[in-house]
Amino acid sequence: MRKIIVVGSGVIGLSCAFLLALEGYSVKVITRNPEEATSWVAGGMLAPFSEGLEGKLFDFSYMSLKAYPEFVSRLEEVSKQRIDFWQEGILRVVLEGEEELIKKAEDYKSKGYSVSFFEPAKNLSPEVKSLVLYGEEAWVDAEMLMDAFLFAMQRLGVEMVIDEVVKLERREDHIEALRGLKERYVADFYLFSTGAWTKELFDLPVFPVKGQALKLKHVSLPKVHYSSVSYLIPRSRYLYVGATSEEGDFSRCNTLEGLHRLASGALRVAPFLARAELISSLYGFRPATPDELPIFETGENYMLLTGHHRNGILHAPLTARLAVDYISRDIRSSFFEVFGSRRFSS
Ligand SMILES: Cc1cc2nc3c(=O)[nH]c(=O)nc-3n(C[C@H](O)[C@H](O)[C@H](O)COP(=O)(O)OP(=O)(O)OC[C@H]3O[C@@H](n4cnc5c(N)ncnc54)[C@H](O)[C@@H]3O)c2cc1C
Repeated sequence: MRKIIVVGSGVIGLSCAFLLALEGYSVKVITRNPEEATSWVAGGMLAPFSEGLEGKLFDFSYMSLKAYPEFVSRLEEVSKQRIDFWQEGILRVVLEGEEELIKKAEDYKSKGYSVSFFEPAKNLSPEVKSLVLYGEEAWVDAEMLMDAFLFAMQRLGVEMVIDEVVKLERREDHIEALRGLKERYVADFYLFSTGAWTKELFDLPVFPVKGQALKLKHVSLPKVHYSSVSYLIPRSRYLYVGATSEEGDFSRCNTLEGLHRLASGALRVAPFLARAELISSLYGFRPATPDELPIFETGENYMLLTGHHRNGILHAPLTARLAVDYISRDIRSSFFEVFGSRRFSS
C-alpha cells in the first residue's frame, strides 16, 4: 500500500485524507496546529451564485456543490457524527443601488438555474430592495463538518501528527522527505494543503485575506441572507454573522474596527438584530491568489492544493475527488491546467 502524507488539516487536507483513506491508502496528516485551520471559522455557505462566480471557477464550484449531499452523507456514515446541512437555497439580498445583482440573477435564470425573486420581509431594513433565492445553494455547519473529519480520521486509522513542516528536501520535481521541527518524514506521495501559509514552503503568490465573524445567540432567521455588507447564516444553536475581508493581514485577533463593520453590516440588513446577544467572535485567514483562482500544482510525487480563498468549504468535495483520481487512477482533470501554478511564471 502506498504511503501518503498530507500536510495541513483544514477542510482541503482532511477531505483528501478522508477519500484517500477510503481508497485504502496509508495516510498520515501532519499539521502545525489543528485549531489554526481557517476552515473552523468559515460560514459554510455553498454559494457559487450568490458569490457571482463566472467561467471555469463557476463550473468548478457548481460541480462541487452538486457533490456535497453524497459527500456529507458518506462522512456522517464513516464518522458516526451528525453534520447540519441545509439544502433549501440562499437568499441574495439586493440593497438600494445594487440593481446589477438583479441582472446577474436573470442571467443565471436564463441559463436554466433555479432563481426566484421575492419582496423583502417586513422586518428587514428599508435599504433592502429585493431578495433573490438561489434555490440550488446550500450551507453546512463548518464546525460540525470539521469535527466529523477528525472522528473519521480516527475511525479510518489516519494518524494525525502535530508538527510544523519547515523544509522540503527536493530533487527538482521529486520530494525526498519533509523536515519537520520534531522529525523527518518520508512517504511515497505528498499532498500539501497549507492554506494561507503556503508561501512558507512554496514560492507562489498565496496571501492571507483575514476574515472576522461573530456568533449571536439564536435569532430566528429562516435562511441565509447574503448581502454585500454582511452575511447572516442561521445554524441550529446560533446565528453566524460574517465577514470582513482584510487583505494581507495575518494578525491573530479580532479588532474593534472589524467588529464594528460586522455589527453595522448586519444591522443595515436586519435592524431587529440590534439587541441580539453576542456569543463570541472569530477570525481566520483565507488563502487568496492574485487572480482569485485556486492553485493545483503537481510534481513527480507530490501535489499542492491551495488558494481556495472565499470558497474552500464549497470546493472541498471536488478538490478531494480530483486529487484521488489523479493519485490512484492517473486521471488528470482539465482543472489541473486551469488552476495550474504555471500561470504565474513569466
Ligand atoms: C470568516 C470566513 C468565512 C468564510 N466563509 C466561507 C463560506 O461561507 N464558504 C466557503 O466555501 N468558504 C468560506 N471561507 C473560506 C474557507 O474558510 C477557506 O477557503 C478554507 O478554509 C481553506 O481551507 P484550507 O484547508 O485550504 O486551509 P486551512 O483551513 O487554513 O488549513 C490549513 C492548514 O495547514 C496547516 N499548515 C500550514 N502550514 C503548515 C506547515 N508548514 N506545517 C504543518 N501544517 C501547516 C495549518 O495549521 C492548517 O491546519 C471563509 C473564510 C473566512 C475566514
